[in-house]
Amino acid sequence: MESESDLREQLATCARIFTMQGMLGLHGHVSVYQPETKRVLITPGAGSDKANLRDADMVAADLDGKPFDGKGRPPLEWPIHMKLHAARADAIAVAHLHPPYGTLFAIAKREYKPVTLHSGIFAKGVSIYTEPHLITTPERGEKLQKVIGDRRAAFMRGHGITVVARDLKELLHSTLVLENDALKTLQAATLGEVGTFSAEETSALEKSINIEMVAPRTWIYFSTLEARWDRQPASGKSELFP
Ligand SMILES: [Zn+2]
Repeated sequence: MESESDLREQLATCARIFTMQGMLGLHGHVSVYQPETKRVLITPGAGSDKANLRDADMVAADLDGKPFDGKGRPPLEWPIHMKLHAARADAIAVAHLHPPYGTLFAIAKREYKPVTLHSGIFAKGVSIYTEPHLITTPERGEKLQKVIGDRRAAFMRGHGITVVARDLKELLHSTLVLENDALKTLQAATLGEVGTFSAEETSALEKSINIEMVAPRTWIYFSTLEARWDRQPASGKSELFP
């Protein structure tokens, strides 16, 4: 079992990388779950300075959203995280973001289909949560969790995205892949019809991807960039596949 202090540090790093990438700011949050202790660590809510988050800033709460030590409060949309952590053994890390490109698939009437090789990890597809509201109650959290099912992610209509992973490294990698795919789709669409992969091609791609190997590389690369980031908004961003 990873220690809580290691998880706090990893979670703060993950949040700072998303911030450097322009995918987390005033809104959005990331969490990690320790099944052995049933403790959720989650980044603080709107208003906090995400670029400077440190391990001590992470809020520890139970699966009902109650903070353990009375210090800090989980963000308003905590049910997104807690309901996924509670329902799925493979939902150890969860990100809820409103990233510039991925969110467009929650607005445009256009189904997301993988367009780059790495997005074979989304072979099961990405769900769409169609209700136009924030996920502020346990009931709404459960609804979202059911819509996601066993998939890696959901677009939330007019709102943002939620991504689920087995650890924070996989979460960082898969979220960056989804955002990159959304950006590439948008860019390619300006040239004409977008060539997406078929279901057969995507599942063949999925089998060829060793996410246990690629996710730690993505983590090392982006955490190295983050360590020397000047912490100014809209600076330091690097594309996953430039
Ligand atoms: Zn939100």
